[in-house]
Amino acid sequence: MNRLLFLLALAAFNLQLVAAPVTPPKLVIGIIVDQMRSDYIHRYWNRFGEGGFKRLVNKGYQYNNAHYNYVPTYTGPGHASVFTGATPRQHGIIANDWYVRNSKQNQYCALDTSARGVGNDGLEGKMSPRHLLCNTIGDELKLATNGSGKVFGLSLKDRGAILSSGHAANGAFWMESRDGKFITSNWYMQKLPDWVQAFNDKKQVKTYLEQGWKTLYPIETYTASISDNNNYETITTGSGTPTFPYEFGYATGNQRYGIIRNTPYGNSILVDLSMACITAEQLGKDQVTDHLVISFSTPDIIAHNFGPRSVEVEDVYLRLDKEIERLLNFLDAQVGAGKYTLFLTADHGGADVPAHLQDLKMPGDYLTDNTIKQAIRKELKRVYNDSLLVDAVENAQVFFNSTRASQLQLSLQQLEHTTVELLRKMKGIGAAYTREQLMTCTDKHAQLLLNGYHDVMSGDVAYLLLPAWMDHGKKGTTHGSGYNYDTHVPLLFYGAGIPHGGSYRQVFITQIAPTVCELIKVHQPSCAYSELLVELFR
Ligand SMILES: [Zn+2]
Repeated sequence: MNRLLFLLALAAFNLQLVAAPVTPPKLVIGIIVDQMRSDYIHRYWNRFGEGGFKRLVNKGYQYNNAHYNYVPTYTGPGHASVFTGATPRQHGIIANDWYVRNSKQNQYCALDTSARGVGNDGLEGKMSPRHLLCNTIGDELKLATNGSGKVFGLSLKDRGAILSSGHAANGAFWMESRDGKFITSNWYMQKLPDWVQAFNDKKQVKTYLEQGWKTLYPIETYTASISDNNNYETITTGSGTPTFPYEFGYATGNQRYGIIRNTPYGNSILVDLSMACITAEQLGKDQVTDHLVISFSTPDIIAHNFGPRSVEVEDVYLRLDKEIERLLNFLDAQVGAGKYTLFLTADHGGADVPAHLQDLKMPGDYLTDNTIKQAIRKELKRVYNDSLLVDAVENAQVFFNSTRASQLQLSLQQLEHTTVELLRKMKGIGAAYTREQLMTCTDKHAQLLLNGYHDVMSGDVAYLLLPAWMDHGKKGTTHGSGYNYDTHVPLLFYGAGIPHGGSYRQVFITQIAPTVCELIKVHQPSCAYSELLVELFR
């Protein structure tokens, strides 16, 4: 190639790199599938239809190696991190519930005792994004458009709707437990919008639950899963076995209709609500970009109960695939194909059931925070002759009683070192660090812990369990670790401005928010510091 041709090629390449979408999309939708592991896309691929997950992969852009870059991998921190582009170290949502030193009580991530429920008088309405310390995509959109870009968050879980849509959202709506109604709080508004009231009045929850839950296809075709009747699943109905079909006629009292969360219809009703929201709020109708978050909570609840290899989880994803197809078809008709941009990811993955792994001779076991707390108390009593030095062990962190320590003229560093030495000898512990070690250690475990560690709010000692060890009952499973099964999640982009393709590069979920902000031409959120997903701009 001669020099002129080379320069021309280089100029064309650079032009390509900076060529951003000419007009930002009219609507940006962020979909979170609670506890969706990245392998589900491959495992159920042949069972999916053409219009749901396959449409997103085949026509959009797929990151095959997207990970969470902190622990704990829980729902509250996950939603906050995707939409702020930061980790708990900055945004302050360090867990779903965390221990507060001053009050010596636990704080739930979305609970705001100064808020009042709208559509609900009880605790379930007292929610707001007050504890989220950084701006979200929605907040930046509000600033950039002087309030005219509309922002909504929808989920069955309060934290799924609230921590994702942000502080300045027009509305966040979540489900209360007794009647399965969607509610909000006075952080956002004084009265439910007419469309939410009308939606609740239709009482669709009852209609869905009356159908019971049978597998979508003949049960013998669920070969991607272990047998329906096994030892690793929670028995959730009165039938005595964790098997299909499920009937929901037993539901009474305070959880009467909220149990829709435990069924695939939790996803269906959320799509119904999303469609009602897009229509009533005219999302994507004017020239200003709007933003909608849809967080599907049901896959998490079902995976907690039955584990990731269950027929129940497979069925939930086959049905979710159909719900995503329904949503995409609706968006094409309502907003217009090519006029909206959508991304889909998860707030965390999930572990295999340790009892199942043990039966397969693989590592995995159980160890509770409480067992660890008792062991630390015993050791500190032995060494310092005092049983009041530990206030709490929460979210794999140890909180010392600093007043007691100074009364006994003990430094926190002494307590940290004694505790870390003990933890490192305990069966089931993978790593343990003093505060100082956490700040200076460069290994991967320490980095993940540090990204989830808030200097003011977090504990004095942090530890990790070994792979597939968990604080959980022997049926079902959970998440929260820094291992691949919890960190590796799907990441799909689709629609306006998104090229078709895929990448196997390791990327982190903190890259999503700054990338989306760049796609819609608004400032990146206050705490976002990660690199953009540059493949989407080529
Ligand atoms: Zn969960």
